[in-house]
Amino acid sequence: MRIVVLDGYTLNPGDISWDTLAELGELEVFERTSVDEIKERVSDATIIFTNKTPLSKETLAELPGLKYIGVLATGYNVVDVAAAKELGITVTNIPTYGTSAVAQFVFALLLEVCHHVGSHSDAVKQGAWAASPDFCFWNYPLIELAGKTMGIIGYGRIGQATGRIAQAFGMNVLAYDMYPNRELESSTLRYVELAELFAESDMISLHCPLSDSTESMINKDAIATMKDGVIIINTSRGPLVSEADLAAALQTGKVAGAAVDVLSHEPATSDNPLISAPNCIITPHIAWAPKESRARLMGIAVANLVAFLDGNIVNSVN
Ligand code: NAD
Repeated sequence: MRIVVLDGYTLNPGDISWDTLAELGELEVFERTSVDEIKERVSDATIIFTNKTPLSKETLAELPGLKYIGVLATGYNVVDVAAAKELGITVTNIPTYGTSAVAQFVFALLLEVCHHVGSHSDAVKQGAWAASPDFCFWNYPLIELAGKTMGIIGYGRIGQATGRIAQAFGMNVLAYDMYPNRELESSTLRYVELAELFAESDMISLHCPLSDSTESMINKDAIATMKDGVIIINTSRGPLVSEADLAAALQTGKVAGAAVDVLSHEPATSDNPLISAPNCIITPHIAWAPKESRARLMGIAVANLVAFLDGNIVNSVN
């Protein structure tokens, strides 16, 4: 049984092992595969794995031996799952693997906005401290989190993990979710409507999925209702934010700082308005990517395939 991984590099650039997958068949791992290369690489494969390589209806129709597609991610929009179903191909995903990593990353971003640790270290190494007339200096306003209010939009797995860390920092949490779990409420956590969250939060972190109803939810109208000097963090999906509107609000200072791990087009394009916006930190979609999370993802991908081969399909998305 031939197993092909189309684009294994981001999951495993070499620091974790493919061995458990190799035990299940004749494994070939490609670091990256273009759409034009798919057919020749997988024509005789029964099992394929993809992370971001698209598998359209047309491509799937040309792969008669294919029985299983393992998506090496949570989002599976790269596969035409309806076409796969018609062709009798099972598609699975990895529902969760990086909750702690993403929540931790929210605070890596937020603390960078509050302290600019990297920039201050660079300034010291460039001689600014040695040249300073005082025993200390700072190049940005420094912000304390304790007592501030964090608005969290989408209070699911990652939102709740983020909320727990926020509370540990002494912050008050305002949560917005379509399905509030009132049992989570406490003296430092309340579910509120979106309007109240926008109006009362000092920091807003996005954790809801991208859908027609959430696309561009952070736009100029929403920003106008937020506190002056609000900080916005997006580790969920780029299109939740109107990037032009956020860039304009960073220019005026209405939004004091933003930090995003996701953009509307990835990799980033040089004309993205956030690239040149002031007080905006952008990271290349890495919240999910600590080695521990990737190893967990690999383990679930292998378990999904083992279950399929045993006839007990799990994590099917079609
Ligand atoms: P989850 O399904 O556990 O939580 C999502 C929550 O959003 C749910 O509670 C749901 O009820 C709520 N929700 C759905 N629609 C909503 C709406 N219109 N308004 C408000 N709330 C709504 O998902 P999760 O595991 O917490 O992941 C959240 C998001 O994080 C994912 O959608 C994904 O886009 C993103 N993510 C990013 C990375 C990264 O590397 N940056 C990694 C993993 C996940």
